[in-house]
Amino acid sequence: MARYTGPVCRLCRSEQKKIFLKGMRCRSDKCALNQRHSVPGKDSKTHAKKRTEYDIQLREKQKIKHIYNMLEKQFRLFYERARHMSGVTGDNLVTLLESRLDNVVYRMCFAPSRAAGRQLVSHGHILVNGKQVNISSYLVKPGDVLEIRECSKKIKNIIDSLDEISKSNVVSWIQLDTGTQRGVFVSNPRREEVSDLIDIKEQLVVELYSK
Ligand code: SF4
Repeated sequence: MARYTGPVCRLCRSEQKKIFLKGMRCRSDKCALNQRHSVPGKDSKTHAKKRTEYDIQLREKQKIKHIYNMLEKQFRLFYERARHMSGVTGDNLVTLLESRLDNVVYRMCFAPSRAAGRQLVSHGHILVNGKQVNISSYLVKPGDVLEIRECSKKIKNIIDSLDEISKSNVVSWIQLDTGTQRGVFVSNPRREEVSDLIDIKEQLVVELYSK
């Protein structure tokens, strides 16, 4: 499946926000955003002055797309799906994005980033309800049980990730058993529960795509 293969720290600098694309490094002093604050390829003052409503909507869409490690076509498909669901389209979009298998693997702390989660999925290390699933955009449903495949349980990156972040970072809609490397996606999160992304403005994506 197609994915962005360019320098990922550049994406954070473009958004002027930590998007957490490099796992442990993002939580350390080595984060590139701690060292370079300039917007790549732009004079930041000129850039700030010239922002139109369209620019702001576009930037927000790009930011959310990068956070969830998606390309335009697939992101648009998620939006269209959210639009046809009942309820608020922006909230539906966040719910769908949070249900992606690569994201849930990251939320369960099996991987230090969504990109690493995607790799675990595509390499076949993840079981959903006991069956191997290697499609990162697979939508996890409430009650689904995810676990690391038995023969993959000793993979160092998985053990390190669980050791590093599981205690402090498990979100409220996930139940995790680090010992068995097994987790339950208890429910779809309400928008306000996704507190680490509380500052993203999904409504701007809705406005952009509605034009
Ligand atoms: Fe972004 Fe992580 Fe790079 Fe920091 S280290 S700029 S958070 S991808």
